[in-house]
Amino acid sequence: ADQLLFYCRPGFEHDLAAEVTGYVEQLAWRGQVEFSPMQGFLRFVVDDGRPTNQLHRELRFERFVFARQSLLALPPLSLDRDDRLSPIVAQVVASGWSFDEIWHETPDTNDGKALAGLIKALTRPLESSLRKRRALRRKAGGRRLHLFWMDGDRVQLGMSFPGNRSELPGGIRRLRFPQAAPSRSTLKLEEAWHEFIPREEWDTRLAEGMQAADLGAAPGGWTWQLVSRGMHVFAIDNGPMKGDLMATGMVEHLREDGFVWEPPGRLDWLVCDIVDKPARVTAMVQRWLIRRWCREAIFNLKLPMKRRWEEVQRCLALLEEALEDAGVRATLRCRHLYHDREEVTVHVRLLD
Ligand code: SAM
Repeated sequence: ADQLLFYCRPGFEHDLAAEVTGYVEQLAWRGQVEFSPMQGFLRFVVDDGRPTNQLHRELRFERFVFARQSLLALPPLSLDRDDRLSPIVAQVVASGWSFDEIWHETPDTNDGKALAGLIKALTRPLESSLRKRRALRRKAGGRRLHLFWMDGDRVQLGMSFPGNRSELPGGIRRLRFPQAAPSRSTLKLEEAWHEFIPREEWDTRLAEGMQAADLGAAPGGWTWQLVSRGMHVFAIDNGPMKGDLMATGMVEHLREDGFVWEPPGRLDWLVCDIVDKPARVTAMVQRWLIRRWCREAIFNLKLPMKRRWEEVQRCLALLEEALEDAGVRATLRCRHLYHDREEVTVHVRLLD
């Protein structure tokens, strides 16, 4: 009776459904996706009786683009307002699950936010009840019980496992907007760094004195991040850069076409936030990587179309194939970040 439960940005359920279905088929499993538009989550039910936890393990979280979280889940519960706790405790006990932490979460919708008070009231009684029944323990190997509240009387219980999950509540990375930054977009690059670069490597991979190119840089949110790390930046854009940034002396603003501009020598970083066709942006970045004009790249693919997953998959496959044909070894990741709207962020790192 187990299921899989995934979270996503409301409005991207179709894309996540296409992605999940694709991976499941590749892994030779069968089943159905269930979701409603704008609800911010999706379920997958295996239909040939094989153990769902095995599929969950095979689906590597870091491969997902549109999933904010990936859980092994029990069937959703409908609760009675007089006693919400008992059915939850009973389901946990019947499942035999043990874990060392409990998180309450809601879909990333306005309805979800309204449940904060209810959750607060339930947290302590539930913990003490599950501790008494030895389901909540200290040393259960870092497993986490997630209570996903769809509304006040509907909840779904899920379990996450270390090494195959997002460590963030709701799978959302909240970042403080730096007041000095010229645009909100700045958070996309910062989030991408958190997502793709382990913190302990920031000082070597996002280091002072490095050189970067920012294509489509204006008004300067991404450039601001690069400069904050002490990098010298070629900011390529016909549009104006905000004044304070230029006064740092770290930025060379060139009013050129990002698709044809070539760097004066090898750089460390390429970032690109140009709004254009995903295939066109991908082809441009590909040229940079094959000529080794940079060692790492972060770029966004804008997705105004309906079938976003198909478009992303096509671009990533082309890029992977081109790098392989050129004998360029690289790691490639792609995520629909919290600060991304109709777009995804890709990271490529050359390995030699
Ligand atoms: N990342 C920027 C920030 O954080 O402030 C925002 C970039 S904005 C989404 C896209 C920019 O790409 C626009 O400023 C636009 O002028 C620029 N752009 C569009 N086509 C371009 C091209 N072919 N070459 C360079 N810049 C281009």
